[in-house]
Amino acid sequence: MPFYKTARTPIVGVYQASGKFSKLASQNDDISPKEEDVVKQTLNILSKDVLKAVAKVYNISDNIDDYIFPVPRAVTADVPNNNGDNFQHIELTRFSPNHRCQVYETFKNDPLHVEHAADNPKTARGYLPDAHYVSDSPDDKHVLTVVAMDTTKDAPLAEGLLSGDVDSFSMGCICDAVRCSICGKVAHSDRDLCDDLRWYKMSKIDGKLVYEDCLGVEYQELSVVGNPADPKARTQALLRHAAHKAKHNDIKTAFNILSTLVADEDQAEIARFFKYNAGKLPDAMLRLADKLL
Ligand SMILES: [Zn+2]
Repeated sequence: MPFYKTARTPIVGVYQASGKFSKLASQNDDISPKEEDVVKQTLNILSKDVLKAVAKVYNISDNIDDYIFPVPRAVTADVPNNNGDNFQHIELTRFSPNHRCQVYETFKNDPLHVEHAADNPKTARGYLPDAHYVSDSPDDKHVLTVVAMDTTKDAPLAEGLLSGDVDSFSMGCICDAVRCSICGKVAHSDRDLCDDLRWYKMSKIDGKLVYEDCLGVEYQELSVVGNPADPKARTQALLRHAAHKAKHNDIKTAFNILSTLVADEDQAEIARFFKYNAGKLPDAMLRLADKLL
């Protein structure tokens, strides 16, 4: 039985298509010029053929203009995360014969999900066109991923990412084995775990932190976690999306009108409906929203 792991990952920037790729929000302000270069390179050579193929499997748009591009720092090498899971440089850069690539590259073309609900590929909100290993700073080697998020499939989520309300992702991976930082024992299932990992993970034994090195890693997905925005914000975002042809100022005026028509409670109910049905609303409903606005 492989181990299943998740961990939060910070977003270092969000880019938007629209002809040129410009940086919109740098949530931590710690994207380096080098990182920015590799991201821009990815976005400029992003394969539309791959997008078309991937779009069918994940049920996402095949039009590149429908996307925004959050850039999460997915994994930091050689630093145990909050769950006590460590991904060593040597593991991240290992060539995996099963995948015919280096381990960090298994992020590539993975789906973007919400809350690790990854069972059905068709519920994906996007995918990961690229993953980079950034190693210029010896003490801060890390994996940078580029996410393509389909704004037409989950408009409230897109809004949350652009506004900064959504500021982290969570990576999901499986690993064949884990190795204890204290005794070095390698376990292949929960039953094999040494007492250090079983009882004392993330505490200290004789001043040494108890964590586990993940071995035989395969990254499988990236998820948005947490509630990105209050229901009202979600409603507004969705309606804004429905009226995407309208000019910015028109929408703002329209929202003032809408909030006089619908009570807060009703807005929350509508928002819940949209949350669970975003991406499959009939065109007629979108046209109605266009008219309302
Ligand atoms: Zn141990």
